[in-house]
Amino acid sequence: MARVYNFSAGPSMLPEPVLKKAADQMLDYEGSGQSVCEMSHRSPVYDKIIRDAQALLREVMNIPDNYKVLFLQGGASSQFTMVPMNLMTKNGKADYVASGQFSSKAYQEAKRYGDVKLIATSKDDSFSHIPELDPKEFRPDADYFHICMNNTIYGTKWHTLPDTGDVPLVADISSCILSEPIDVTKFGLLYAGAQKNVAPAGLTIVIVREDLIGHEMEITPTMFNYKTMADNDSMYNTPPCFPIYMCKLVLEWIRDEVGGLEKMKERNERKAKLLYDFLDQSKLFKPTAKKEDRSIMNVCFVTGDKELDAKFVKAAEEAGFVNIKGHRSVGGMRASIYNAMPEEGIVKLVAFMDRFEKENA
Ligand SMILES: *Cc1c(COP(=O)(O)O)cnc(C)c1O
Repeated sequence: MARVYNFSAGPSMLPEPVLKKAADQMLDYEGSGQSVCEMSHRSPVYDKIIRDAQALLREVMNIPDNYKVLFLQGGASSQFTMVPMNLMTKNGKADYVASGQFSSKAYQEAKRYGDVKLIATSKDDSFSHIPELDPKEFRPDADYFHICMNNTIYGTKWHTLPDTGDVPLVADISSCILSEPIDVTKFGLLYAGAQKNVAPAGLTIVIVREDLIGHEMEITPTMFNYKTMADNDSMYNTPPCFPIYMCKLVLEWIRDEVGGLEKMKERNERKAKLLYDFLDQSKLFKPTAKKEDRSIMNVCFVTGDKELDAKFVKAAEEAGFVNIKGHRSVGGMRASIYNAMPEEGIVKLVAFMDRFEKENA
């Protein structure tokens, strides 16, 4: 069996020990005689899985008791709607920063539901940096302030959070969740699609401060109401059973094999440094994100020549480094190096890029 190094932005690699454990348990989960794919979500054996997953997420992310953890479906994109429907209800106002494509979509969607202000955007600079903010533009009576913490397509990240005072900060953390510790108390709400760092696609995680639940707009569909899901422990209807189970295995891997999020961060920073150090000295490949705003999860680069980019992507694919092509809207290359990408994969990629550079000088 030959496994490739998969640099996909999502769905993406999962840790090999997790995949092996899931394979071992595929036909008979812990003596139940069934696969987790087959079992009733109301059965005691599944109830333990979802409870354990939630408890583990609380432990690994150090989530305070006054926050609810919700396991939903619909992807991060559904949160672009759920956040305003549930939170933009006291003054009907919210502030947004557009630092990439997903946060722009979140802003566009929120506009359907209230008075939404675009505080800043880096669109004119092709989103290659996190926009500077003028706190005078922030509205003190906004119901929340929305950012996307790690911009998956452009490879940038907020390294310092905006100070929004009493206005709850809401963040899309789809592509950086579990990559490093995060101080949950600084946020009113965090959300993430699972398919980048947590589990197979199908699970969406929401971490929301309790006082923000229960103020939804009257038109809010039952399934889009955080209260419905909070009151029913994410089991109002059938939850994404298998991804939740995989999430539990990934969290066990982070806690027991990696040693927690501080260790995860060290690993991820070391991995990203290998790649950025190479890019910074390369005469062929150029990193595209502003240095101070670089992501440690998505590393974007170009040669400056579209044909050469295509040649590189093809050669990389043939050498077992797959999905390294940049997002269709920006081109170039993007190496997504989430938690599950082993350091060895990056060492080998760098050696491959070095060879490619010499051959194409
Ligand atoms: C992938 C991604 C999304 C979209 O997630 P879906 O689960 O496909 O809806 C949104 N935001 C960010 C930051 C992402 O990386």
